[in-house]
Amino acid sequence: MRLLVTLLTVAIVVVACKNSKTPVQTHDELVQHIDSSVRPGEDFFMFANGRWFAQNPIPASERSNGIFRTINDTINATILQICQTAAGSTNDKGSLKQKIGDYYSSGMDTMGIDKAGIAPLQEYFSEIDQMKTFDDVMKVAAHIHRISASPLFAFYVNSDDMISSKNAVFLAQGGLGLPDRDYYFNTDERTKKVREAYPEHLKKMFELSGFDEKKAKDAAADVYAVEFALAKVSRKMEDLRDPFKNYNKTSVKELQEKMNNVPMNEFFHGLGMNLPDTVIVGQPEFFTYLNIATRQFGIEVWKNYLRWHLLRGLAPYLNTEIEKQNFSFYGTLLNGVKEQRPRWKRVVEDTDGQLGELVGQIYVEQYLPKGTKEKLMEIGNAVKEVYRKRIAGLDWMSDVTKAKAIAKLDAMIMKVGYPDKWKDMSALEVDKTSYAGNVIRANAWHFDYMKNKYGKPVDRTEWSMTPQTYNAYYNPSNNEIVVPACNITVPGYEKTLADDAILYSIIGGSTFGHEFTHGFDDQGSKYDQFGNLNNWWTSEDSIRFYAKTGAVVNQYSHYLVVDSLYINGDMTQGENIADIGGIAMGLEAFKQTKQFKENQVIAGLNPMQRFFLGYAYAWMVNMRPEALATRVLTDVHSPAKFRVIGPLVNMPEFYSTFGIKTGDKIFLPESERVHIW
Ligand SMILES: [Zn+2]
Repeated sequence: MRLLVTLLTVAIVVVACKNSKTPVQTHDELVQHIDSSVRPGEDFFMFANGRWFAQNPIPASERSNGIFRTINDTINATILQICQTAAGSTNDKGSLKQKIGDYYSSGMDTMGIDKAGIAPLQEYFSEIDQMKTFDDVMKVAAHIHRISASPLFAFYVNSDDMISSKNAVFLAQGGLGLPDRDYYFNTDERTKKVREAYPEHLKKMFELSGFDEKKAKDAAADVYAVEFALAKVSRKMEDLRDPFKNYNKTSVKELQEKMNNVPMNEFFHGLGMNLPDTVIVGQPEFFTYLNIATRQFGIEVWKNYLRWHLLRGLAPYLNTEIEKQNFSFYGTLLNGVKEQRPRWKRVVEDTDGQLGELVGQIYVEQYLPKGTKEKLMEIGNAVKEVYRKRIAGLDWMSDVTKAKAIAKLDAMIMKVGYPDKWKDMSALEVDKTSYAGNVIRANAWHFDYMKNKYGKPVDRTEWSMTPQTYNAYYNPSNNEIVVPACNITVPGYEKTLADDAILYSIIGGSTFGHEFTHGFDDQGSKYDQFGNLNNWWTSEDSIRFYAKTGAVVNQYSHYLVVDSLYINGDMTQGENIADIGGIAMGLEAFKQTKQFKENQVIAGLNPMQRFFLGYAYAWMVNMRPEALATRVLTDVHSPAKFRVIGPLVNMPEFYSTFGIKTGDKIFLPESERVHIW
C-alpha cells in the first residue's frame, strides 16, 4: 500500500507557490487528494479526498480504503517483521519472543489447523452435552465467557462509576449473535436481508460442527428463538448512553432473590470467582426477563444456544471450512467484503490483538521514530491550553460551572506514547501445536486479568491500548486521555514531520481535541474531575448545554448515509460533539504556530486551506455500502464523510476559506450552527 501511494505521488503536477519565501514542493499529499471537479460547497469531503479514492479503489479483501488502512498496513508490516524474526530465532521458553513467534507460527500452520478440525472445542462441546439443569447452563456459560464469546449477558469488571477508585462487577444486556438488537426488528431491506440469512448461517455452522441437516436446522431455530427473545428486552444503543440510567447497583443477595431461576453463584464459581457483595446491573429489565427465559426454553435449546456462542467466538481460528462460512456471513454479507485478507495479515492482527503488550515492547524499542512522545506532548499541551481559555470565555456558561470545568480539564491525565510499565503476561502459555489452543488460553488470560481486578483498587496507570494502536480514547472514570505513539503517523510524511497545518488538524483536532472534548460530551460531562458519576453542573447551565447537544443531534439526524439509512443523531451525539469541539480546539492551537502567523503558503495552499484539507485527510475513508449500513446501526461514530462535513459546517473560518455560500449543498444557516466548547 505504501508503495502504491509513493508511485502515485511522483506523477503529480507541481503546484506553483504563491509565496516566494516558501520552498518549492515537489509533491504534496493534500494537493494530490483534491478532486477539482467537485466544488467544496457541494461536497467538501469528496473535493478534498475524491482523487485519492478514484486512484485507490477498495481492494476485494477490505471493507474500506483510506488513511486508516494505509497506516494499519504500515504498522502490520512492522509487526510482521517482529513476528517473523521471533519465529525464526531460537528463544527461551516463556520469553517474549518465544510467545510471539510460536503464536504467529501456530496461526500460519493451516495444515495443522485443518487436520485438527473442531477437535480443540471437543472438551467444551462434551461439557455442553452433559448439562442437565439451568445450574449447569450458568456454569458452562461462565466457561465460554472466559474462552470465547459471551452468551446470555455481558460480564465485566471495571471501575465503579460512582466510586472511581474502586473496581466493581458489572452485568449488562448481551448474548446476541447479530451485531445489535436492531437487526432482529428493523424493516429496511438491508437489515431484513441479514436477518433472513442468519438462520441459514447458523444451520451451516452447526453442520460444520458435526450435526446432521435436520438437527442443524432445529438447532438454528432454537438459537434464533433465544436471541430474538433477548433482543426484545434489550435497550437500543441510544438508550445505553445515559450513564445514570444504566447504573443500577444492587446487592447480590437482592439480585438472587429477584432472579430466583438464575443461579448467579454458579456463574461466578464457573469464572473461578467468589460471589461479590454487590454488582452494578446495566439494564434490570433484561435480567428480569432472563429469569423467565430459564423456564421458557428447555435444556436442549440452551445446549444449542451455548454451542453456537462457543463456536461463533472461535470460528476465525478453526479449520478452513468453518472460517470461510464465518467470513461469508460476518465479512461478506454484513460488510460487503468479497474475499478474505491474506492469511499473514489476519494472523499478524490477531497476534497483535492478543500479545500486543509484548509486541509493543519491541515496537517501542526498535521502530518508534525518535522524538515521537515529545512532539505529541507539544501538540497535546497546546490544545489543552486553548481549551482552558475557551472554557473561560464561554458566553453560555456560569462562572461556577466554568471553574469546575476548568478544574476537570486541569486534572485530566494525559497518557501519551507508551506505558511506563508493561502488563505481566508470564502466566500465559503459548506453543506451536494448536492455534485455537493458543487463542483459548490467550482469551482466558485477558479475561482473568480483567476479572482479577475485582477487590483491588483501580490502577490509574493502566493503559487499555498498545502504542502500536492507531486510535485514542478518553476514559471518564479515570478522567484521562490516552494517545498511543503511532498517532504521530501521517502517510506521506514518514521521513520528515508534516507541516503544522496537518499535524494540528489531524493530531491536534481529531485526536487530542476530540478526546479532551469527550470529557465534556453528553456522557463525559456527567463525570467530575475525580472520575465519579456526579452532576457538577448548575441546572441553568445543564439546560443550556442540552439545548446545544440537542442541536447537534438534529444536525446529524438529517445526514443520509446509504439507501434510506440516516445517521442516528442520538446514538452518535457523543462522538459528534467531540468532533465539533476537537476541530475548533485544533484550529485555535494552530493559530499560535509560526506557519499560521507568517501565513506560509505550501504547495499553493495557505495555512487555513491546509488546515481544513488536513482535517479531511484525517478521515479520508471510502467504505463499502454494506459496511456503511452496518456502521449506521452499530457504531457510535458517524461515517467518515460526516465526521468531516458535520463539524466543519459549524465553523465560520471554513466558509470564508473556501467561499461557501447560501445555496451551496453543505451550507448550514448560521441559526443552526452549533458552538459548544
Ligand atoms: Zn471519540
